[in-house]
Amino acid sequence: MNIVAGAQYARIDDQGLHYLHEDKPALLEVDNVVLCTGQQSVRALYDELVELGSSVKLSLIGGAQRAEELDALRAIDQGTRTALAL
Ligand SMILES: Cc1cc2nc3c(=O)[nH]c(=O)nc-3n(C[C@H](O)[C@H](O)[C@H](O)COP(=O)(O)OP(=O)(O)OC[C@H]3O[C@@H](n4cnc5c(N)ncnc54)[C@H](O)[C@@H]3O)c2cc1C
Repeated sequence: MNIVAGAQYARIDDQGLHYLHEDKPALLEVDNVVLCTGQQSVRALYDELVELGSSVKLSLIGGAQRAEELDALRAIDQGTRTALAL
């Protein structure tokens, strides 16, 4: 296995994956590319309810609170604690 740290992805085409490494263009000649590109929090509903001044008690947990790293355990822990506190 070869890990390239600090790569910047440029494009994927029939040749493979084009990227920049140390500011130099490089090509990885591959047939398949699997993207594992991270996550973003989706919290529009929470923000909307806060903005409306909802009287409902709101809890922001799990991936909606913070979508960094692989942390299903934290999300499960927060979900369990939130449910038990109801
Ligand atoms: C590709 C990938 C791989 C991962 N691998 C791992 C791993 O190996 N180990 C690990 O610990 N973590 C991993 N994670 C992170 C893990 O998936 C999250 O931390 C976890 O799923 C967060 O749980 P959650 O319940 O907060 O959110 P989610 O699992 O995202 O659940 C939120 C749910 O709410 C639903 N929803 C959203 N909006 C609404 C709405 N308005 N009304 C009703 N339902 C709604 C969604 O459809 C979804 O079903 C991975 C994440 C990704 C993207």
